[in-house]
Amino acid sequence: MSDRESLLDRFCRYARIDTQSSDTSSSYPSTEKQKDLLRVLVDDLKAAGLADAEMDGHGYVMATLPSNIPPGHSAFGRVPTIGLLGHVDTYHEVSGANVKPQVHRNYDGGDIVLPGDPSIVIRASEEPDLVACKGMTIVTADGTTLLGADDKAGVAEILEAVWRFREDPKRLHGPIRIAFTPDEEVGRGTERFDAKKFGATFAYTVDGSGVGELESETFCADSATLKVGGADVHPGYAKGKMTNAVRVLADVIMALPQHRTPETTEAREGYLHPINLSGNVSEATANFIVRDFTEEGLHDLEATLKSAAEWAGKKYPGAKVTVETKESYRNMKYILDQHPQVTDYAEEAIRRAGLTPRRTSIRGGTDGARLTFMGVPTPNLFDGSMNFHGKKEWVPLEWMDAAVQTLLHLMDVWVVRSRS
Ligand SMILES: [Zn+2]
Repeated sequence: MSDRESLLDRFCRYARIDTQSSDTSSSYPSTEKQKDLLRVLVDDLKAAGLADAEMDGHGYVMATLPSNIPPGHSAFGRVPTIGLLGHVDTYHEVSGANVKPQVHRNYDGGDIVLPGDPSIVIRASEEPDLVACKGMTIVTADGTTLLGADDKAGVAEILEAVWRFREDPKRLHGPIRIAFTPDEEVGRGTERFDAKKFGATFAYTVDGSGVGELESETFCADSATLKVGGADVHPGYAKGKMTNAVRVLADVIMALPQHRTPETTEAREGYLHPINLSGNVSEATANFIVRDFTEEGLHDLEATLKSAAEWAGKKYPGAKVTVETKESYRNMKYILDQHPQVTDYAEEAIRRAGLTPRRTSIRGGTDGARLTFMGVPTPNLFDGSMNFHGKKEWVPLEWMDAAVQTLLHLMDVWVVRSRS
């Protein structure tokens, strides 16, 4: 079997295993079935010669590919331990049971009708990236489930890279630590992750996004709580006496800039987003999330919320209006900028794989961002999967293979750049 066919076979094998996570479960991992794939990965890592591969009680799989740099080589003992991570779970709102990967060879550039539900059509007119894949091998689901290329493409690519290192001992690499994690989709991928045990100096998640992409920025995120204290009296005799906390709260929300909401922002614009509210006449509360790419931008948005609260306090003298903010997470760029080689080497590897690197930012957080703040700077490398979180997910085999090539080049760049 050629390298490419073995990558395809491996990906489809992983995609068929149901690993949907749950956002309502409080156990860890959130669903036991994620371990069905994690156990297979332990076996596959061992088969590739990574003897220490094991799954811990939380479901995290870790393994080591020891350095093969010979003593006397100018990089011997100088290459830092590099981590590679992928997540096994799939999105919680679309079924991942009985996934039937469909392989469309020599794609003709037209619409792809999914055979399990012909009403689900991946339309060439809606997917400019897909049209560019004419002649390639495209993998999709059958229309009844998601595919789970997010992130089983990444998982398969990491294992394939390990396998190709093993088959070609002339390819030198430093120490590599592998981790496969559960529960990324429900935002809990690093909740029980032992960064010390992982032991990587720098790492890369291989997850989502189109060919050539390198994600090195995430939002800065805070939460804010707006509280209004009012004064309740019998509504029949309330004139001049009542202060209705519900109306004051509504007034504050409507006074906020309408061009600073998730519905009205994109790219690098931040927002102030009320996510729920509760209350009665005497007391009302709204919870917000605040997002921006810089801390200054975040603080500007919070100042806007606070001045709206002050304005309402003056407009309604009987009301007590307060705002409290709490830090959630920060843009990983603040840390990654202190270690520019981590993203520079990744860009060099992408270029060496014959692609044009594209630096992008994520309007959200990632496991890599959390790891970055746990002491392991971790940008995200593309896995080639598109349209994730839906039934119209697709991934070209050629892009998955390009991701494997990128990983092989990346480890070589670390060796070359670490020479004395
Ligand atoms: Zn993902």
